Formats: sequence, structure tokens, C-alpha cells
Amino acid sequence: MGKISQDIIERIKGIVGENHVLQDNLSLEKYSKDETIGLQSYPDLVVRVRSPEEISQILILANDHSIPVTPRGLGTSLSGGSVPVKGGIVLSMERMDTMLEIDDRNLMAVVEPGMVTSEIHRLVELEGCFYPPDPASKDSCSIGGNVAEGAGGPRAVRYGTTKDYISGLEAVLPTGEIIKTGGKVVKDVTGYNLTQLLVGSEGTLAIVTKIILRLIPKPKMKVDLLAPFDALEPAAEAVSAIIKEKIVPTAIEFMDNPAIRLAERYLNKKVSFNNAKAHILVQLDGNKEEEFERSMEVVGDIFERYGAWDLLVAREPEAQNRLWEARRCIFEAANRIGIPYETMDVVAPRSSVASLVKAAEEIALSFDIDPVCVGHAGDGNVHVLYFKRDDMDMEQWRIKLPEASKRLYRKTLEMGGKITAEHGIGVTRKPYLSMDYSDRQIEILKGIKKSFDPKGILNPGKIFD
Ligand SMILES: Cc1cc2nc3c(=O)[nH]c(=O)nc-3n(C[C@H](O)[C@H](O)[C@H](O)COP(=O)(O)OP(=O)(O)OC[C@H]3O[C@@H](n4cnc5c(N)ncnc54)[C@H](O)[C@@H]3O)c2cc1C
Repeated sequence: MGKISQDIIERIKGIVGENHVLQDNLSLEKYSKDETIGLQSYPDLVVRVRSPEEISQILILANDHSIPVTPRGLGTSLSGGSVPVKGGIVLSMERMDTMLEIDDRNLMAVVEPGMVTSEIHRLVELEGCFYPPDPASKDSCSIGGNVAEGAGGPRAVRYGTTKDYISGLEAVLPTGEIIKTGGKVVKDVTGYNLTQLLVGSEGTLAIVTKIILRLIPKPKMKVDLLAPFDALEPAAEAVSAIIKEKIVPTAIEFMDNPAIRLAERYLNKKVSFNNAKAHILVQLDGNKEEEFERSMEVVGDIFERYGAWDLLVAREPEAQNRLWEARRCIFEAANRIGIPYETMDVVAPRSSVASLVKAAEEIALSFDIDPVCVGHAGDGNVHVLYFKRDDMDMEQWRIKLPEASKRLYRKTLEMGGKITAEHGIGVTRKPYLSMDYSDRQIEILKGIKKSFDPKGILNPGKIFD
């Protein structure tokens, strides 16, 4: 795959208009990275498309000339998904950002992929509807990126993840054909489930150009509770006790003390209960006053029983935002602090969260690495951030980090878990895929890729080589 000729560049300008083909250094720099720390690779060209027809024409050209094409939403991937590791074209979806329809008779919305996720929340909520998936990056990521990564978020505990709300897709294949899968239907067993195959395919099979989202009625009441604990184990046991009571909160998040301190450094202000060993943050929602109040009481009692030494209750949006501020900023904080680090996105059965965090900490310390653990305690997904210590040189870090990561992945798999819950394999987890998947499984994945993308032009270098 070589450089893109001037003739092809002119033809692309003819398709999308000159203003939407970017070649200047500043633009190439912007599109050479996402939020994955330490990963950068320049594209030859950035093309900001507006329609499936434009994408189709560009993909036909790219396929004919074997030019790599990397689809890009808003570049918040944490696995290197939108980094053009083989150069070529970055196809930016940022101009395809329209809410096409909110259909309250079918409880569906039809959206373009470049829409910011929280803008979808806002617009459907104005109509009394609710789109539950809420990645912590919801104000800066796109729904197309959420579909491609199968994104989750805190509300997954009660409502599930992006995959549970995708009812249909329009997508352009690497060979240029435009396909439609699913629809505004509740049931559909027509052949293999291509909709769900594209969800989580990390932009390697097709470019998603339209998304039919399933909505639910907006819950009438919502409350957030934050409890500080002196140790992680009782905090994790409190989470299990809540689930055992048959109460399914909207979200159950946790932060360990290094995470609380990291947030504090980044926000440049004191976080409540900053000397706690763990914070548990619970969100409850509901429609029936009595049931809602009872759930709140039960959660409060359980926290007390398991040793929480205080409880913050937030019923108003402003107070709720304040309660979530520290939890939501962790990745920005980690990225801006300027210390080399790597994120693991491991998930285990939710009853194993405490053991998983304990293992993550022990492994880090045995490699002289500083661990930070935050995550979705309610669904077993722990984000483990391994930071380089000041006194470790870069050479040692490059040797120790993959060994420590591998050990954590092995431990996670032994617990019946998975090496990535919501951030994807991308580039960063590629070396570890074979720890979970057999050769035959990887062969099947490669076969699927080949049938969608015979020449391997779409987002090459991701998931596997
Ligand atoms: C601070 C922070 C918090 C985060 N919190 C969460 C979280 O709670 N849960 C979670 O799941 N993730 C989280 N993430 C990761 C990230 O936000 C998600 O993976 C998100 O879905 C990426 O969306 P994006 O628009 O930025 O996509 P990009 O980074 O631009 O792209 C991601 C992948 O999708 C592909 N892609 C993008 N658009 C399309 C399209 N239209 N068609 C086909 N492929 C496409 C790209 O090729 C790439 O492989 C977080 C990231 C940050 C920085």
C-alpha cells in the first residue's frame, strides 16, 4: 500500500468538495492520534464525508488502489481504534451529525453516526424518552464510535450496553456497497444477525452511516449516593449485598484511593472523603415513589452494615454532576498528568470484583508499578491503570509493563472474565487476543473480515494483523 497519488486526491476532492479534504500538517497531526496514550501515526489525507454515497465512492476508489481507510468518530478511543496505523485516508464522520427522527410511536430514534452521544440523550429526553448507554466520554464521543466499540457505561448495570439498543444499521462495505440491517422492528431473525456483528467490529468490517436506536420511557426519579469505605473488600461485599436484595441500581461505580487522589490533582480541588480507601457511587432510578424510596433505604442500610462511614445523597442535577465529577474525569486526568501509563479494561463475574482489584494491585506492586483502579463495580468491569514510577527507567518500563499486563489478563481469564469489556482490542490489546481465543476462533474472525473486506483496506492493523 503506497502513497496516495495526486490524481486520486483530485478525484476525492471532486466527491466531497475541496474544503473537506485536509492535507495540512496541523490537521494530519490532529487525526494522527486518539485518547490512547503514546500511540500516533499520521494519515496521508483526512476526508470529512457527509453521506453514504460519498463514502461509497471513496471506498470504491480506495479498494481499487489498495489504500488503507480508517473511519473516525470523535477520536476518544482508548485502544488506538481511530489511529491510522497504516497511513492512508482517515474518514471523519464528524459532519454526519444529525438527529434524523425521534419516533415515539415505535420508541426508536434514527441518528447519523457523528452525533455526540450526550446530544442524543438530551434530544430524546425532551420527548420523554431515554437512551440508556452513557460512556463516561458521552460529551465528547460519537454514537458511531459507540456502535463500533460496543461501548458501555455506568448505566450498563441496569440497562445493558450499546449493543442492547441497536435495532438497525445502514453501513457502507469496504467494496462500496451500501447495506441495511435490522430496522424499526422488535423482532427479526432474518439470517445471521449482521447488525450485532457490526456492533463492536471496531470499524474493521464496514462504515456505519445510519443507526436506528431503541429507546425506553424516561424514568421519572433519579438519585445518586456516594459512600466512603475504609477498605475495598467490605465495599465490594456491599455491592454484592445490594444485588442479592434484588435491587438493580442504574449504576454502581467504585474508585480506589489512588484514583480519588488522581482526580483531585486533575480537578485541582478537594474531593469529598479523599482519605477513604474506596468510594462506592450508586445511582437509582424508578417511576414508583414507594419502591424508589425503599430501594434508597435498603442501599443506605447495606452501606452502613458494611462499614460506610458517611453517605452523600444527591437528588438535583447540579449536585449529581458534582458527585460524578471525580469518577468521570479519571481518563482525562491520567492523560494530562504526564506520567507514562497503560489502561487495562478487564471484566470478571461481578461477584469477583474485589478479588480482581486485589490481584491487579498485587501484580502491579510485584513489578514496581503504581496501580489505580476505578470501574463499574456493578457489572464487574474494572479499569486498571498501571503508572510508571519516577525511579523506573523507560527501558525497564517497556519490559515490565507487558509482563504485568499479561499476568493480569491471565488472572482475569482464570476468574472467568475477559480481557476487554468496552474499550476494544484495537492496537493495544492485539498481542493478548490469543490468550482468550483459540487459533480456530481467530481463524473464524479472519474469515469474517475477509468476506467483508477482501483486500483488507478498512482499519487495517486493528484486532489482528
Ligand atoms: C475520558 C474517557 C472516558 C471514556 N469512558 C468510556 C466508557 O465509560 N465506556 C466506554 O465504553 N468507553 C469509554 N471511553 C472510550 C471511548 O470514548 C469509546 O470507545 C467511544 O465509543 C469512542 O467513540 P468516538 O466517537 O470517539 O470513536 P473514535 O475514537 O473516533 O473511534 C473508535 C472506533 O470506532 C470506529 N468508528 C468510529 N466511527 C465509526 C463509524 N461511523 N463506522 C465504523 N466505525 C467507526 C473507529 O474506526 C475506531 O475503531 C472513554 C474514553 C475517554 C477518553
